[in-house]
This record gives sequence, C-alpha cells and structure tokens, in this order.
Amino acid sequence: MNVDEIVARRNRLLGRGTTLFYDPPVHLVRGEGASVWDADGRRYVDMYNNIPVVGHCNPRVVDALERQARTHSTHSRYLDEVILDYAERLLALHAGPIENVVFTCTGTEANEVAMQMARMATGGRGFITTTGAYHGHSDLVGALTDAPPRGRANVNAFAIPDPYRPPAEGLSPQQLRDAYLAGVTAAIDDFAAAGVPFAGMLVCSILANEGLPDIPPGFMGEAAALVREAGGVVILDEVQAGFCRTGSWWGYQVTEVEPDIVTMGKPIGNGYPLGACAGRRDLVERFRAETGYFNTFSSTPVHGAVGMAVLDELEERGIAAHVQDVGAHLLRGLEAIAPSCDRIGDVRGRGLFLGIEWVVDRESRAPDSAGAAAVCNALRDRGFLTAPAGPNHNQVKIRPPLVFDRAMADAFLEAFADIAVGARAA
Ligand code: PMP
Repeated sequence: MNVDEIVARRNRLLGRGTTLFYDPPVHLVRGEGASVWDADGRRYVDMYNNIPVVGHCNPRVVDALERQARTHSTHSRYLDEVILDYAERLLALHAGPIENVVFTCTGTEANEVAMQMARMATGGRGFITTTGAYHGHSDLVGALTDAPPRGRANVNAFAIPDPYRPPAEGLSPQQLRDAYLAGVTAAIDDFAAAGVPFAGMLVCSILANEGLPDIPPGFMGEAAALVREAGGVVILDEVQAGFCRTGSWWGYQVTEVEPDIVTMGKPIGNGYPLGACAGRRDLVERFRAETGYFNTFSSTPVHGAVGMAVLDELEERGIAAHVQDVGAHLLRGLEAIAPSCDRIGDVRGRGLFLGIEWVVDRESRAPDSAGAAAVCNALRDRGFLTAPAGPNHNQVKIRPPLVFDRAMADAFLEAFADIAVGARAA
C-alpha cells in the first residue's frame, strides 16, 4: 500500500480528523537508537520523539519487558516487590518532600490524580496555569488546555513569562519577573473575588508546551511561594521535562522550584504506557484513603521492570552528561547559523530540548507558522524529523531521543543551514 492508500484506510477505520505530521506523511516501520526507517527503507534521524528517551526499541528495556511479561504480571491487588523496588528508586531521584507515588498509565491520568489530590487537601476547586498549557485530555485536566486568562470554570491562566515577547520593551530581568508575577497574584486573587476556593497551580516545570521561554530567573520559585501563601498546592508536570531531557534529572532543578506533587509520563517507560504522580506523603495518603484508587493496568510488575530498565540505561550510559554536551553543541551551532537568516527570531532551550522561533522578520517578531511547517517539511525531505510547535505553532521543535549524538547534530546543522539560507533568499 502506498501512503495515499494508507491515509484513506486510516480515515475509513479511525475516522477523519486524526492528526498526522508532514505533507506527505511518513510511514515508519522500524526504529533503533535515534533513527527510524520508513517503508521504503529510508532512514531518518528522529529529532522530535521524547518518549523513546533511551532510544527506539532499546534492547535492555524490551528484554526487561519480555522477561517480566513471561514470568508474571497481574494487577496491584497482590503483593509484588518489583514495583516496590522501582518506586523506591524513582522516589530517591526526587526532591526531599516527594515521598509517595501513585502509578498510572498515562500523563493525563497522573495529572488527573494530582489535581484530585490538591482538591482533597485544600477543599478548593480553582487552579491556575499558563495561557499556553497542555497537561492532558480528560475533562478535569483538559480544562487547563490553552485556557483564556479568565472565563473558564475553575481555571485562571496567567501570561507565559516570555522575555522574547515581553509586555513592554526595556524591562530589566527583575522588572520582567515582577510583571509576570503580578499576573500570578491576580489569577489567585480573582478566584477569591469570585468566591472560588483555591486548590493550586499546575504547570510544566520548564514551560515546554508554552514554547520553552527563557523564564526570568526566580519566577518559578516565587510563583510557587505565592501559591503556597494562598493555601494552594504546587503541582509540577515533568512529562516533557523529566528524565534528563534538559541535562538535569528534572526540569524543576533547572527552574529552581520545589514541587508538592510531581507528575511523570512519556519517557518514564520509553514507549511502554507508564505514568506516575508522586507527592508529599500527607497528600498521597489522603487521596488513597478518600478514593481507594485502583487502575487496572498500572503498578504491575511489568511496569516496574520497564521503569527500572529505563533508569538503568539513563544512569549507566551517563545520559545527563551526554545531553549537556550534545545539547550545548547543537545550541552553539544553531546560534552560529541564526545571524545569516532573519527568519530565525530566536533559538533557545536547554539540553536536548531546543526551539527555533520562525518569524516573518526579526524586527517585528511576528510568528510565521506556515514558514515553520515548511522548514519541518524541508528537513524531513533531508532525513530529519522535527515538527512545528509552541503557542504560535511557529517554533521548530527539537527534542530527540537522548541517545542523539554529535555526528547527528552536525549533519542536522548542515541541512538546517542550507534551508535557512534558502528561506532568507526567498
Ligand atoms: N503533560 C504534558 C506537559 C504533556 O505534554 C502531555 C502530552 N503531550 C501530557 C501531560 C499528557 O500525557 P499523555 O498523552 O500521556 O496523557
């Protein structure tokens, strides 16, 4: 079957409207490390998928999964030490107050549990988040998606703290931080004014879906302090930022903020559906007591074995240091290309999570989402898979499996430089 036939088959079986990357789309059949192959045998460097964090089809993870699946796997109503060994190791990687964990199957479920925990602990309903948030697709969690500043039930959103598109020109980093913090205070205060009891804040620790802004120093810690002063719970989403993506284990280490609850997903299982909501003991125990939470496919020995193999790989291969090295190399390369193309408004990010702002011109900074999509298509034609992202859909998002190496980075930089120079000429 060719690509058009598969698209037609997909529409017939899955219903029209399912999202597809690239025009024409890519039909992948195999993966290894940071590479994937299409049905014609063409290799691409995967620079988008953060889920296979230790590489596509990582042999150690697959072996662990297979071995445990062949041995035993039932649900969590029986004693099992594989999941306890894993829980112990995962919790030890987190900040001190994070003592207990509830396993789930997805990031959405982890955030759903976290929001329920915060509501139970505070008796509140209202959450604050950013205007560019995405944390999952359930009714409760989905209410945070791209929320307007006001007007959505139980959600008040504050502006993305983004120095690239500041509220006014010429502000110092401190003034900028304070201006954005005033938005956080207003979001909390407006709940009180409307008689909505406050439950807390749910944000990604590095504001990844918000376009990876260079968050003004101190903003996250101060925002968390404001939330706690108002009696709320601080939930930090590590679904994008966690497991060495930035070169640190957790995004909250980069932005210097401590969570009451932390949620994990995507890379935690390298592709196996695993998620986790970890938090202060009092929050977790209250949630357990009030709900008797049970999730059929989570907390199984297979989850434990897979999660453990991912941690083994990350630690034994020294992935955090590798990410710092390759990420810095890639960022330097992009910064060197940027002056030659005025469609590149900004290059930013950390570790192996970078974004290239594609704009109409550097002066206006007007986002060019069609241009970003065209760049991603051109990169795909040259064998590199990226995708447009960010609140304005104009960022070329770079977020490869963490085994992505310097040679791949150099090949990408060469292709991107060619495309950027061509875009300027056009
Ligand atoms: N949190 C963040 C920050 C995400 O980006 C996503 C998914 N893109 C989720 C949560 C939801 O995870 P899942 O798709 O596993 O439910």
